[in-house]
Amino acid sequence: MNSKTQKIKVTVSIDTECDHDPNWVRANPITFESITEGVPNRLQTAFDSVGAVPTYLLTVEVMENKACVDALRSLKGEYEFGTHLHAAFIEPQKKFDDYAGVDSPDFQCSYPEDIEYQKLANLTDLFEQSFGYKPTSFRAGRYGANAISLNNLQKLGYKVDTSVTPYIRWSEPNATVDFRKAPEQPYFPAKDEIIIPGNYSHQRILEVPVTVKPRLLRRTPIWFRPWFASVDQMKDIVQYQLRKHADKEVVNINMMFHSMEVIEKASPYPQTKADVQKFIDNMVAGLEWCKQEGAEFCGLSALHETYQHAS
Ligand SMILES: [Zn+2]
Repeated sequence: MNSKTQKIKVTVSIDTECDHDPNWVRANPITFESITEGVPNRLQTAFDSVGAVPTYLLTVEVMENKACVDALRSLKGEYEFGTHLHAAFIEPQKKFDDYAGVDSPDFQCSYPEDIEYQKLANLTDLFEQSFGYKPTSFRAGRYGANAISLNNLQKLGYKVDTSVTPYIRWSEPNATVDFRKAPEQPYFPAKDEIIIPGNYSHQRILEVPVTVKPRLLRRTPIWFRPWFASVDQMKDIVQYQLRKHADKEVVNINMMFHSMEVIEKASPYPQTKADVQKFIDNMVAGLEWCKQEGAEFCGLSALHETYQHAS
């Protein structure tokens, strides 16, 4: 093979939220088993077993809950914490005081620029109050980020955004984000752009797309994601990325899912204990295979430096 690829960097980016229900609505009453049981006892132990370094992207309601913050602060092992915004749940223009039974109605990028900035600033402050340092990685709720969102994140000191899902266009009543032509591999976006790569600058936030593979005759790609892909499909997605990007020195594989997926009935996905076990076993098998192929694991923010050197 005449591949130039010297490094495969695997990241695991997890939207870390309160428990939901099988209809993808927040549990009523609100519960946090995904944080107090899921993160320490199901996820982190699984990642530790293979040497993976997850990035838990934390939502407002998780950081507002003392038991969750305590559980996260005492988490052992290697991991990164970043933030994840569902814009209706934080000031200014906060829409809900009680999150129980609520869906996440809107994209952050549907708000005016200054309102979105202030929401992100408040989310970032909440993180800093909880953990004593600033977060540097982020994903928008429902992937609803645009170029202005990236500018806002950059002003707040973020190094990596992972809101882009190649080949997919997402819509809600007040906004659309169109990632159908987005690059598959990490890039420094051009000024005032989100899916167009630009010249590298030290100041620029790195966009790390969720790893997918397009499918013939299907509008949606397959995701590098447990439950959405079997172990064989995960291998196939990695091989596709390595083939397609053989000209790149570094190839990134970015797994995505939600913390709630490892609690039975707390998402539309695993509904039984056996389902959860299968989810975790497949996730570990997929990551273990990546390791055997020579991949290294890292938190999302570490990629900023990696790509600085690769640029
Ligand atoms: Zn979310």
